[in-house]
Amino acid sequence: MTVRVKLFGTNGVRGIVNELMSPDFVMKMGKSIGTAMNGNIAVATDTRTSNIMLRSALISGILSTGSSVTDTGVVPTPALQYHVRTGAYAGGVVVTASHNPPQFNGVKAISADGTESSREEEKSIEDAFYSEEFRKATWNDVGSYTVCGPCATDYVNAIASKVAREEIRRRKFTVVLDCSNGASCYTAPYLMEKLGVRVVTLNASPQGSFPGHESEPTPENLKDLIRMVKTAGADMGIAHDGDADRAVFVDENGRYIPGELSLALTAKEIIRKRKGGIVVVPVSTPSVVEEAAKEFGGRTVYTKVGSPVVARKMMETGGLIGGEENGGIINPEMQYCRDGGMTAAKMLEIVAEGGKLSELVDALPKFYTVKLKVRVHEKQLDAVMTGVKKNIQPNNVDETDGLKIFLDDGWVLVRASGTEPLIRIFAESKSEKSAEKHASEYRKIVEELAGRSP
Ligand code: MG
Repeated sequence: MTVRVKLFGTNGVRGIVNELMSPDFVMKMGKSIGTAMNGNIAVATDTRTSNIMLRSALISGILSTGSSVTDTGVVPTPALQYHVRTGAYAGGVVVTASHNPPQFNGVKAISADGTESSREEEKSIEDAFYSEEFRKATWNDVGSYTVCGPCATDYVNAIASKVAREEIRRRKFTVVLDCSNGASCYTAPYLMEKLGVRVVTLNASPQGSFPGHESEPTPENLKDLIRMVKTAGADMGIAHDGDADRAVFVDENGRYIPGELSLALTAKEIIRKRKGGIVVVPVSTPSVVEEAAKEFGGRTVYTKVGSPVVARKMMETGGLIGGEENGGIINPEMQYCRDGGMTAAKMLEIVAEGGKLSELVDALPKFYTVKLKVRVHEKQLDAVMTGVKKNIQPNNVDETDGLKIFLDDGWVLVRASGTEPLIRIFAESKSEKSAEKHASEYRKIVEELAGRSP
């Protein structure tokens, strides 16, 4: 008997190629997706070395159920999402492991409206996977296969039409663009050209071994970009992760801008222009976002951690901007999903209208965040969380996701990871010292509880 486990993590199903992510497994995923979605399904991949092997298996599985496939080839995840949203699709699938190392790959499901699939939709795919009750097409009912040529171009044109193109053009920007050898190689340089930006590219050849650097846009991985921004005298540096649903920035002085600051700056400018409105972010988001938006009458709504939850909450509340602190910004002017291309174009618009990126970032409110993680045995996670809860005043806590404890000079979030046996501790304060003090206080509490419980 197969033991039923949750296949989808916070960001699709992921694993090592030819271990979990074998053609057999992905074909079975294809059968499950074809059965659950039942209709025309758009399929994309990123640039990973296993992309053709796994995409072929996925497509075979889908076609066997009678569902049809439109193959968009290698495009960013948000380009596929835009294509699904504007076309007539039952849903979409992307073969990608986003920012994970090159030996990984994954499968990510997209709803018919272009947002990341909800937990319920993922569950119906898992139901088919475990019951193995797949729809089986007869010979004359096998799904049809079409290749979509203009998907990347349509996406680029759509983004360019959503920003103040002339303002950007007038500034005659020079940008160093790091595509991380990922899917943005097919879209980002062309988007820059369309916006009249002089672009110097880095790691812009699509190569799934990620020879430039691993596809997570951390400061360590972006050393070349930082150096090149300074030598080229560029106005900014832009980097995308492997499937380009995220964009991170380097200012004109070569300073890496953490994702919460680019999110705060984008939120501030959108709320300022719209004279108020709602910002939606997960509870783990640093307060700089809320504070920056509040300046112009913005109200922040907090959700559980995970971008599909944020996107859906934005639809529900009419949120004008939202996203995650890792550079994944959701801008409904384009679509309800994290979109690296739209994030980059919006930042160019903000800088075109506002001056220098460094100065705009320096004008944001200042907070200090300390992030820690404590390894805790899986079986102990619940007991430790209950123990932490007993330690705190009930009226000072937000339980949206984990425990967000409000203190006199900041807050601490204690949260069990959704994917690994560990507890994450985020502490934030206006003073660096007290952020550190709060983080270590709660680390001590968690470690003691973990040591004590059986
Ligand atoms: Mg990604």
